[in-house]
Amino acid sequence: MRYVSTRGSNDRPEFCDILLGGLAPDGGLYLPEQYPQVTAAELAEWRALPYAALALRILQKFITDIPARDLGNIVARTYTAGVYCHCRAGRDANDITPLTTLGTLESGFHLLELSNGPTLAFKDMAMQLLGNLFEYVLTQRGEEINILGATSGDTGSAAEYAMRGKRGVRVFMLSPDGKMSAFQRAQMYSLPDANIHNIAIRGMFDDCQDIVKAVSNDAAFKAKYKIGAVNSINWARVVAQVIYYFKGYFAATQRDGEKVSFCVPSGNFGNICAGHIARMMGLPIHRLVLATNENDVLDEFFRTGIYRPRKTAETYVTSSPSMDISKASNFERFVYDLVGRDPAVIRELWSKVDAGGCFDLNGTPYKTRLLEFGFVSGRSTHADRLATIRDIWQRHQTMIDTHTADAVKVANEYREPGIPMIVLETAQPVKFAETIQEALNRDPPRPADFAGIESLPQRVVTMNADTEAVKAEIAKFCG
Ligand SMILES: *Cc1c(COP(=O)(O)O)cnc(C)c1O
Repeated sequence: MRYVSTRGSNDRPEFCDILLGGLAPDGGLYLPEQYPQVTAAELAEWRALPYAALALRILQKFITDIPARDLGNIVARTYTAGVYCHCRAGRDANDITPLTTLGTLESGFHLLELSNGPTLAFKDMAMQLLGNLFEYVLTQRGEEINILGATSGDTGSAAEYAMRGKRGVRVFMLSPDGKMSAFQRAQMYSLPDANIHNIAIRGMFDDCQDIVKAVSNDAAFKAKYKIGAVNSINWARVVAQVIYYFKGYFAATQRDGEKVSFCVPSGNFGNICAGHIARMMGLPIHRLVLATNENDVLDEFFRTGIYRPRKTAETYVTSSPSMDISKASNFERFVYDLVGRDPAVIRELWSKVDAGGCFDLNGTPYKTRLLEFGFVSGRSTHADRLATIRDIWQRHQTMIDTHTADAVKVANEYREPGIPMIVLETAQPVKFAETIQEALNRDPPRPADFAGIESLPQRVVTMNADTEAVKAEIAKFCG
């Protein structure tokens, strides 16, 4: 399998060549040259497979430059019950992503639990695979990497738990000093591993992100210190997320050919992009329902055909903070398919976006194609979120987190008789305990292995929002 850039440069790298990088050199995002197709016979065989075996079948179609036996070992170590042990009472951790039906089976309304991993958010599903792939490829090549990232919560902890103790990998994670919850801080800062470095920046998340950009733009520093990233545009993260769309499909249907819809709480468009890819491979997905919070740039696009990224100052701080984005970094991948994979059109559209503008597909043939690709959308507010958390608790005795609540709210607007609706559950309520308290007047349950983590010793250095100081901190640990 070869990969192409959405902006049309003519290098055609393989999977391992793009694993450690981010953007393509021409500024685009990588996608497979063609989407591999799944035959009816494959679907029939895959239905009964355990998660790791299913993952191997799917990944082998995208990763042709790692021997099948090695990939099999990596996948078996990644998708094992011991890693995804935080499931609801009564669910089987061997399912990795158990399905919870809300109401009767006939209601066809389901939650796909994706947040049973080490950090209790769905980002573990992809990041754990990335950690094992990084270690494998770096060992093969005798190379090292220093991952530099910025986080406001979920991404940083998922990256650190995935990379802790991995040979050849160091992580330098910037977070805004005092802006994360005590639980999130404890999750990251209490890791004892020597290859994990937490840097708290006196400032906001955007200050952290600006420093990451500034360091990455220093080509000499970047090359000398082998700076890498694991942000949401990483192709391996997207492809790892394709697997659970298949798993969820099999869990919610009786026979192949039945259609289902998925509803996905969305921020950077990584998760739902994987659903789009599963659909392009031939998985019978009826609708891909995209849910946003008050930061509704994507809902606006799917309703109006206008993509209007916001300024960072126009981004709302909400109670589903992992969806607080001003532009959606993976969105270009979908638009590439929407415009018939014409890189000239992408270059033209993104020349406007990259200059701080917007684009409008009205009056083009692409607008009417949105539904062909299955997409519909909706948005949710803080009040909706509280009402939905209460409703699901009262009617089903099931507690959901704020991001999942946004998706449940929007999914209800698109239910159709006879077509199961699967809502992707992206985090556990304990990560957003304050809003759960507000909605239900009670504390969310905390998995036993997180008891008292706030009182563990923490490893973090605090510094001003100063790029040179961060560079010096990195240099201190690198030969
Ligand atoms: C990251 C995240 C999202 C948004 O996912 P995208 O892939 O960025 O669209 C939703 N919910 C939670 C809990 C997250 O951590």
